[in-house]
Amino acid sequence: MKCEKVKDRLQAFIDKETSPEVTEEIRTHLLDCISCQNELRNLQKVDEFILSYQEEDVPKALTEKLLNIPYSDKKISHFSPFKKLSVAASILIAFILGAWVSSQTLQNRNSTDSLLSSDNNLYSYFEGGY
Ligand SMILES: [Zn+2]
Repeated sequence: MKCEKVKDRLQAFIDKETSPEVTEEIRTHLLDCISCQNELRNLQKVDEFILSYQEEDVPKALTEKLLNIPYSDKKISHFSPFKKLSVAASILIAFILGAWVSSQTLQNRNSTDSLLSSDNNLYSYFEGGY
């Protein structure tokens, strides 16, 4: 598998959403590709970062609401509805977490600033430009 293809699938690989064959191919590729190893590490860092906040303080009610958002029943031919839903839910969660994490940053600036600075625009979008 080529680097480009591996990198395209790394996020799915981390989320264990790749098929066993693809997982194996990526593993083999990672064994001797420094560039993809670095990419994997970066993605994992972002994941850990999001998770550390998620575990800390996202209200359970919010998480449940997100998980219970009904998906539309429009005919989705190629993807299973569940897959679509989980993708939509993760995008929503990421979005809301981004806004939430930014609000924490504004209250308590620390060394994660550089990582979060790009989220500040999102925050003002959610808060109507506070
Ligand atoms: Zn590679």
